[in-house]
Amino acid sequence: MTDLYLPTGALADRIELTGLTARGYHGVHDFEKAEGQDFIVDIVLHTTVSRAAASDNLAHTISYSDVAGDAMTLITGEPFDLIETLAERIAESALATGALAVDVTVHKPSAPITHTFSDVSVSVRRLGVLLATPKPAADVVVGIGSNLDNPVTQVDIGAGKLARILEYEQMSRTRVTAADVAPGQPTQPNYVNAVMIGKTRLSPLGLLAELQRIEDEQGRTREDHWGPRTLDLDLISYKIAGHEITSDNPDLTLPHPRAHMRTFVMEPWAEVDPWGHLRGKPIR
Ligand code: ADP
Ligand code: MG
Repeated sequence: MTDLYLPTGALADRIELTGLTARGYHGVHDFEKAEGQDFIVDIVLHTTVSRAAASDNLAHTISYSDVAGDAMTLITGEPFDLIETLAERIAESALATGALAVDVTVHKPSAPITHTFSDVSVSVRRLGVLLATPKPAADVVVGIGSNLDNPVTQVDIGAGKLARILEYEQMSRTRVTAADVAPGQPTQPNYVNAVMIGKTRLSPLGLLAELQRIEDEQGRTREDHWGPRTLDLDLISYKIAGHEITSDNPDLTLPHPRAHMRTFVMEPWAEVDPWGHLRGKPIR
C-alpha cells in the first residue's frame, strides 16, 4: 500500500509482517465454513521506531510476534462471511498496540471463483487516534510559555497565530512564573505563561505539527530539552465529545504528562474553563 506521511511531512517508519498463513473458515458458502481454506495476511504497522532503535529495548516498540498471534487467532477463529470483516478485525487488533496506523491485506487465493485467477484480496488502512480526524470537532487545551526575547510579545504573537488555527478559542490572562530548573542546571529567566482553549478539526498529531510550526517560526531551537525557549506550545488535553484521548507515544503524550502538576497551566486553564476536567478530575 502507499506510504504514510505524518502531518509534519515525515514518512512514518514501518514494521511489516507478510505472508502470515493459516486455515480459516470464512466465506458465504456452507462448504467454506465446513472445510475451510488457507488465508494469507499481510500487516503493515506505521509507527516510530527511533526510540527502540536508540534503546535496543523491545518494550519501546511493537512486538510483531504479538501482532502475529492476535491475527492468527482471528484468522482461525469465528468464521466471517467476508474477508472485509476479517481485515477490519485484524486492523482493529493491530491498532490496539499503539501503532499510528495499520494496513492489513487478507488474501484468499482458493476463493470459490469459477475462473482461472491467482489471488483475490481485500486491503484496509485504519488510522489510530493520533492521526484520526475528530468527529465532532475536538476540545483542546494548549499551554503557551516563553522566557526569552521579550516573552510577553512572544506569548502575544504565539496566541495570535494559535487563534487562527482554533475555533471558538478563549485565551487566559498571562502570568509570570519562576523557571522550573532541573537540578544542576543554570538558572533561567522568568516565564510568561497562558492557556488557550478552543475547538479543532485537526487530528492530535496534525495539531501538534501546527504548534511546532508556530514554535519554529518564532525561532525556537530544540537542542536543549527544558532549556530556555522563545515559545513553547504544549498540547495539554484533547477531548472528543467529552472523552479524553490518552497516548503514551513519546512524540505526543496525552494528556500532557506534567500539566496536572503545573500551577502555571492549571490556574489559567481554570480561569477560561472553570468546569474543565483533566484525568477525570475537576481542574479546580
Ligand atoms: P516541555 O514542553 O515538556 O518543556 P519540550 O517542549 O522541550 O518539553 O519537548 C518537546 C517534545 O515533546 C516534542 O518533541 C514533542 O514531540 C514532545 N511532546 C510529547 N507530548 C507532547 C505534548 N502533549 N505537547 C507538546 N509536545 C509534546
Ligand atoms: Mg513543549
